[in-house]
Formats: sequence, C-alpha cells, structure tokens
Amino acid sequence: MNSLKLFNSLGRCLQEFEPLEPGHIRLYTCGPTVYDRIHIGNLRTFVFEDLLRRTLRFFGYRVTQAMNLTDVEDKIIAAALEADVDIGTFTAPHVASFFDDLTTLRIERVEHYPRATEHVAEMIAMIERLLTAGYAYCADDCVFFRIGADEDYGRLSGIDLDQVRRGERVRSDEYDKEDARDFVLWKGAKEGEPAWPSPWGPGRPGWHIECSAMSQKYLGKTFDIHCGGVDNLFPHHENEIAQSESANCCPLARYWLHSEHLTVDGEKMSKSLGNCYTLGDLLDRGLSARSIRYLLASVHYRQQLDFTFDKLAAADRALKRIDDMRFRLAHEVEKEIDPGPLDRAAGRFENAFATALADDLNTAGALGAVFTFVHTVNGFIDQGLPPGGRTRVHAALDRADQVLAVLDTGDWAGAAESGGGLSDVEIDALVAARSEARATRDFAAADRIRDQLSEAGVVVEDAPGGSRWKRG
Ligand code: AMP
Ligand code: ZN
Repeated sequence: MNSLKLFNSLGRCLQEFEPLEPGHIRLYTCGPTVYDRIHIGNLRTFVFEDLLRRTLRFFGYRVTQAMNLTDVEDKIIAAALEADVDIGTFTAPHVASFFDDLTTLRIERVEHYPRATEHVAEMIAMIERLLTAGYAYCADDCVFFRIGADEDYGRLSGIDLDQVRRGERVRSDEYDKEDARDFVLWKGAKEGEPAWPSPWGPGRPGWHIECSAMSQKYLGKTFDIHCGGVDNLFPHHENEIAQSESANCCPLARYWLHSEHLTVDGEKMSKSLGNCYTLGDLLDRGLSARSIRYLLASVHYRQQLDFTFDKLAAADRALKRIDDMRFRLAHEVEKEIDPGPLDRAAGRFENAFATALADDLNTAGALGAVFTFVHTVNGFIDQGLPPGGRTRVHAALDRADQVLAVLDTGDWAGAAESGGGLSDVEIDALVAARSEARATRDFAAADRIRDQLSEAGVVVEDAPGGSRWKRG
C-alpha cells in the first residue's frame, strides 16, 4: 500500500500520515458561517475536504468527520435584527442552500454537522475549565482568553505575538481587556440580541470556542486531522489550539491542512467587484456542476486556484475526452486476443493514480494518470479490445471515481444545457444507428433514436449524401 504523506501546517513540512487509532481517522473541518449563500471559494475548500475524506477511504481508512455550522455571530445577529426575524429563521434558508450545494457538487455528507447554537452548554463548560486553570478572565460581562498565559501561543502560524492585532470578529475597543491581543470566549448580550444564560450572565459564545467545544464532543480531545481554508489559520485555528490545549492539556489535532484560496480572474472575490459567484449563479449561466467540480478538484489544494470561464470550458473538454473513450468502450466488440497488455496498462494506471494521491493529495497528478489511461485505452480500442477488457477498464475508472466523483452518471445538474447530455461521438453513433435502422426498414427503431436525439436537443437532417445533425 502507498504510504500517505500530508503537508502539515503545524511544523510546515510534508509528513508521513499515521492515524491515532489504526484504521480509523477522525477529521474536523471548519464549516460555513450561514449568513449568506456560500460562494465558490467556500466550495473550493469544501471540495478539497471531500477529496481528502474520499482519499482516506480509498486508502482503506474509516473516517469520522465533523463540520460545524456557525449559526450565531455578529453579522448574523445584525442581519436578523434588520430583517426583524430570529436568527434561526434568518439562517434556515442558508443552511438549506449549503446542503443543496453539497449535493449538487457530489460532496459527501459527513457524520456530524454540529451547530453552534445547539452546543452552548459544551462551550460554557470549556470556558469554565479555562477560567479555573487561569487561562481566562472576566471583564465587563465578557470572558476573555489570556494569551499571555499560554506559552505555546503562535505555534501553528508562527505569528510574532507583538504583531498580533485584535481578531476581526472582536472589536477590542468595545471591551475592557487586560491585553489587546486577548480574544473573546463569551460576549455579554446587548439589548435586543439573542442570548443564552451563563455563569457570567446572558450572552453568546465567541466564534473560536465553538470549534474547540464541538470537535471535542464529536471527535475527542485529540484527533487526527483539522482542515480549513488558509484564512482560518490565524487567528481562528491558533485560538482553537490555545483554548483546547489549555483546557485539556493534550494536543488538539496532529495534522493541520489548509487549502489556498480561490480567486476570480486574478482578483480576490468580493461583492463590490461583482465576481463573487455562488454555485447557483454558475448553474444559471448554463454551466455544468460536473465541470465545476472537475475544475475545483484539478488544482492542488495548496495552490491558489484562479477561476475563469475559459478554465471551465477547458474542464468540459477534458471531461468529454473521458466520456468519448467510455462511449467507444461501451460499443466496442471484444476480440479473442491476449488480455495481458490491457490488464497491465490498467494496473499501471491504478498505481500511478494512488501514488499521486498519496503524495499530499496530488489531484492534478491523479487526473494526469486518468488522461494517460484514456489515451492508452483509445489505442487498445483502435487495435482491438481483449476479452474482459471493457470490465477491466470500467473497474479501474470507477475506483478512481470514488475519489474524484466526476464521471458522467447522466444526472449531473446543469449537464443538459452544456451538451444535451450527449457527446459528439455519442450523437455520431446514434445517427449512424438510425441510418442503419432506416436502411433495414426498421422505421420504429429509427423513430425511437430520432426521439432520443431530439430530447437531447439534437436535430437530424436527412440529406441525399446521408444524415447530418446539429445541436438545436
Ligand atoms: P466562512 O463561512 O467564511 O467561515 O468560510 C467557510 C470555509 O471557506 C472556511 O474554511 C474558509 O477558510 C473557506 N473560504 C472562505 N473564502 C474562501 C476562498 N476565497 N477560497 C477558498 N476557501 C475559502
Ligand atoms: Zn473552526
């Protein structure tokens, strides 16, 4: 078996992966703030985490994963107040659209999706432990983490403590902190804000404490892998480590993986630039979810991914090469020839694919192996397919697709708009089959094929020299 290597942000190096418990991996991934519909940048990170999960299973591990939903924080509270609804009503459609997007992009459901609002008791318990151990203090009606008490603070990000600025989600000037670098664990409620009772009065948890409390609940005090986008590394993950390790006196996670950001046309995504796309925006433009997943999967997770419409078109073309080969394969008659060479080619592909994934999830390399195999199989089809060849090729591709999840299954969202669900080769073959049916005067069969083509938006014209077709 290939030994899996992962780039650990903690220590910033490639490390051989060893799970804490043989055969079982516990994985925590920071989830969405359900404040708005998620964008394709978020989805880049979620697709990366899906590829990681699928890769771990590909290598034979059982995975237990938790992804939190941040359903209470300042922006949510402000927006719900403005809309004059409670935060649950405000976040509900965003939670629903998040799960819809996961389904559309074939991101597998994980074992646990804990919500912050449903785990306030666990957060209060952890804050109490931090207070008892001297890592936290009360000021005004808030509780803060005392960074100065944690000698290891900064271990993940390598941040120079003197440079630490107040966290984005904490307005330090609003509170009476001992030290501007300290971050909030519990915020006292202001008039009209949603609040939970606590030993420090009514209030709500800070953002970082939710991941510490919920990862412990679902995965234990120490687990294997913790993931997020690079923007999570500091201060969020640094603060999670500070909270959990100070409260539990043991490491939080052994491997920390961070995906680089997605940009659009070379720019950071932002609402003001009008380049902040949701999955729905792209599907509305007639793009296929399948090409979007392919594009998000095709760039190594530690490289920035610059999203462009040209790259999506290239993704479409790449997928069509796979489709065309599979179509040829399905219609090729097997001949009585030696199956050895094709079997060995399939074995080489399986090996190259697994080796690429084991190398810190090199999905670009894994896709490269797929295309080399597609080319090789096309060569076999030209020369003659041996007995069992079709099954062998399908088995190898299907196994690869357990990780990639990009093969044409006929039911991808948006696929109809971007090609009628039929590739040119498939249409050629159907048109030829229809001509043959007409030649043998099997008009019922010819009509059936014509209907199938017309459902896919293909128009067939019968000309004296033969039948021609075009997409309608
Ligand atoms: P948020 O809802 O902002 O907490 O983000 C949810 C996840 O998406 C986190 O893991 C972020 O790091 C990640 N994320 C946010 N913006 C981007 C982006 N432009 N590219 C890739 N990942 C992102
Ligand atoms: Zn988190």
